[in-house]
Amino acid sequence: MQYYSLNDNTIKASFSEAVIKGIAPDRGLYFPENITPLPQSFFDTIENLDTIEIAYQAIQQFVGDEIPETELRDILADVLNFEFPVVEIEDNIATLELFHGPTMAFKDVGARFMARCLGYFNRNNNNQVTVLVATSGDTGGAVANGFLGVKGVDVVILYPSGKVSDIQERQLTTLGQNITALKIDGVFDDCQDMVKTAFLDKGITDHKQLTSANSINVARWLPQLLYFLFAYKQVKSKGKDIVFSVPSGNFGNICAGIVAHKLGLPVKHFVASTNINDTVVRYLKTSDYDPQPSKATISNAMDVGNPSNFIRIQRLFDNNFEELKDNFSAYSFDDGQTKDAMKKIYDQTKYIADPHGAVGYLGLKKQELQDNEYGIFLETAHPVKFMDIVEETIKTSLEIPPQIQKVMNKEKKSFSIKSYKELKEFLLQK
Ligand SMILES: *Cc1c(COP(=O)(O)O)cnc(C)c1O
Repeated sequence: MQYYSLNDNTIKASFSEAVIKGIAPDRGLYFPENITPLPQSFFDTIENLDTIEIAYQAIQQFVGDEIPETELRDILADVLNFEFPVVEIEDNIATLELFHGPTMAFKDVGARFMARCLGYFNRNNNNQVTVLVATSGDTGGAVANGFLGVKGVDVVILYPSGKVSDIQERQLTTLGQNITALKIDGVFDDCQDMVKTAFLDKGITDHKQLTSANSINVARWLPQLLYFLFAYKQVKSKGKDIVFSVPSGNFGNICAGIVAHKLGLPVKHFVASTNINDTVVRYLKTSDYDPQPSKATISNAMDVGNPSNFIRIQRLFDNNFEELKDNFSAYSFDDGQTKDAMKKIYDQTKYIADPHGAVGYLGLKKQELQDNEYGIFLETAHPVKFMDIVEETIKTSLEIPPQIQKVMNKEKKSFSIKSYKELKEFLLQK
């Protein structure tokens, strides 16, 4: 499979080049040259296929012949060794729980898949790739866990000092080995800016192969399409039209859902649910794309003012605004509405939603489902990752699951970095 840059379609890369570089040399996002629908028989018989078979058939075309079948199946078996249950909480409304992985965030699947692909590409050489990633919380933990011990890969994670939760900080700073955490004196945007500057700094890139591990990277982004197939398998027998609501920040997850739809997955409509960082919501109203600096909310993994993957969504709808609006809606909710939804869901159903999932639930409610429609919102993180706000909102204490307990007593290790100059020196002497 070839990928091209969305800035210039003459700039091409193979799957491995796209994974290793992360972003095209002209700073464009890579996009698959073809998306070939799966045969109808795949959807007709999906209830008889296991997770790995579904995953292999759906992802194979995006990898092409660069990873042989046996190895790709092994990678998928390793990455997808936990559950993706659909849990009904009201008539015709269910949540797809994506938080059963090792760091209890949906980013585990993409991070682990990318890590294992890079490990495969590095199997016979001594090349060293540095994964440089800025995190506002969840990405860092998933990336650290996914890349731990992967041959030929060093991971450097930048996180804003004092701005991530204690659990999130432990997930980033307690692993050691090839994972280094840098505590930045600043906010998330400062971490992000330093990472972007480093990618453009020839003083670094002439000496080191840097890559990104956010959803810009095709190996982080594309495996997320599998969630939507796993959900379909579980609710197909209801015979209803599916509406997915995806809590969205950088819009990678929902964009992967639209790729699944292109592969032939029956989906009636996609709803992007956001917090007050509402650039896409405003765009759908006005057709004017006007990104704004991000604002802090209680669903902080979605505090993104200029969603990187929206350009891929536009491409998936042939850059046709009307076609986009027929298939895709976006709604925004503030923190008060999000807390009210968490309370309401808990009081009426005893289900505990995290703030991101609650935003997804609100999106389904706003969409006003018809009788023949079945709404599924994605639960993108376990509520314990946002323990303080969840406990305070629903007035109940949460149990700490074993995955999280494991990091609670480990010692945190990180280096403090105060400026870009210090980051550069750090990367060059590593
Ligand atoms: C990253 C994240 C999101 C947003 O996903 P995008 O693909 O960036 O839209 C939503 N919820 C949680 C918990 C996340 O960590």
